[in-house]
Amino acid sequence: MKYVFVTGGVVSSLGKGLVAASLGTLLEKRGLKVLLQKFDPYLNVDPGTMSPYQHGEVYVLKDGRETDLDLGHYERFTDSQLTGLNTLTSGQVFESVIRNERQGLYEGKTVQYIPHVTDEIKKRLDLATEKNPDVDILITEIGGTVGDLEGLLFLEALRQYALEIGRDNFTFIHVTLLPLIRAAGEVKTKPTQQSVAKLREIGIQPDFIVCRSETEIEEEHRSKIAMFCNVPASNVVCFKDLEHSIYQGPIQLRKQKLDALVVDRLALETPEPDMSSWESFIEALISPTHQVTVGLVGKYVELQDAYKSIEESLAHAGAYHDTRINLKRIDSESIETDGTDVLKEVDCILIPGGFGGRGIEGKILAAQYARENSIPFFGICLGMQIATIEFARNICGLENANSTEVNAKTPHPVVCLQEEQKNRVQFGASMRLGSSTATLKADSVAEEIYGSSEISERHRHRYEFNNDYKEQLESQGFVISATSVIEGLVEIVELPKSVHPHYVGVQFHPEFQSKPQQPHPLFKSFVKAALDSQG
Ligand code: GLN
Repeated sequence: MKYVFVTGGVVSSLGKGLVAASLGTLLEKRGLKVLLQKFDPYLNVDPGTMSPYQHGEVYVLKDGRETDLDLGHYERFTDSQLTGLNTLTSGQVFESVIRNERQGLYEGKTVQYIPHVTDEIKKRLDLATEKNPDVDILITEIGGTVGDLEGLLFLEALRQYALEIGRDNFTFIHVTLLPLIRAAGEVKTKPTQQSVAKLREIGIQPDFIVCRSETEIEEEHRSKIAMFCNVPASNVVCFKDLEHSIYQGPIQLRKQKLDALVVDRLALETPEPDMSSWESFIEALISPTHQVTVGLVGKYVELQDAYKSIEESLAHAGAYHDTRINLKRIDSESIETDGTDVLKEVDCILIPGGFGGRGIEGKILAAQYARENSIPFFGICLGMQIATIEFARNICGLENANSTEVNAKTPHPVVCLQEEQKNRVQFGASMRLGSSTATLKADSVAEEIYGSSEISERHRHRYEFNNDYKEQLESQGFVISATSVIEGLVEIVELPKSVHPHYVGVQFHPEFQSKPQQPHPLFKSFVKAALDSQG
């Protein structure tokens, strides 16, 4: 196994994850088997309990691990199969060190940052290696910025690890920012020099400097960075702001031969990558023939990254249908105050996942509007629960039907907690998480969309469709088209094609399984329905 360590300097939000993922794409196209991994220095055990305002979307892996949204990039950009092993936080590291200490596993020694904490970090690299014997390259991204106190132990662990595995087996890529001082019209290399100096202080000499910048790097700057940072000029790579799409990342790095230089550095022999299918995907993405406007009715609409995977999945499906996706983010609370007029501007309506009661009534109005006006509708997780509540209230006449998450005293708890959920006291990872299998109803819309009668999808929720109301809703035309194999939980609801062109709600998160060149069937059918509705 060879190791690529990706660190970041100067500021956060540089797109380190994107650099790691893009390099992953290129190496995979060179025929290597790639695995990606993220180390996050914050103290939360996982981001599952963090507000989307803090952290953007929580991405869920198939084994149920709640992770950083960078893992979403990893899975979309590569065939890497990720599990909890591919994510590590300081919270997890300290949790195990303290558990070990309490269990007496350190045999009376003084427990110290070095070696006990750093060993725990290195153990994760060993474990990833052991569990994936067929992988050629492990790319590990370290969250945060070099110079942060909390990242120090991770960097120290990597320094030690590199020493142990030998020079041909690892490479460090440092991603930094080249700020442009507009008033002076100058690009500044000093922050990059200083952050590399900071790395060297810890004993790490990066082999590659990837510079995030608004423009191409001029030769003068490239050689200056090379000279001050102790790397050849060819190893200073420009990662300019991508013009149209994040999927141009691999193409941009490839132009500067980062992939070739990395395999050289790791003494690997591989053929040049074939990027043709990736390029045709980008072509479809950036200059499509058609367009549709998707109304995303949510609570965190002002937040760039809150619905990341949904936006990506729509883009994948859009490219597939040669269609540009114009996303109109609609704050559901604005529907409560100003009504549904805003929905006249959209071709289709998507209600994403969410927690808590705020904005719920606006979402219910949006679902009703979609149902009554034959607007293609797609409800995800909370979105499916909303579709259920709306149908119960407005078609079955169940007044004040609701989810017990929103109103614990509702007379008609059409969405509620399962018995076993009720006794959970710990907040983190207390949800139904990860993949489970469901069977689809014969001749349903869902079965037609998937072209299969069994599916496996990822979950992240607490509340469920209340099966006590199943018959009542079904008798009025609500179709339950998928139930989970083990627990019999409702997984998909829909309206038949005879009454609505596309009305589908799913309890799981299909957005975690869509890839650029394998768009998820549910997103494909939703975008197709929106296109068809244009006549
Ligand atoms: N809040 C709902 C639940 O916990 C929906 C969760 C979600 O949309 N991810 O069941």
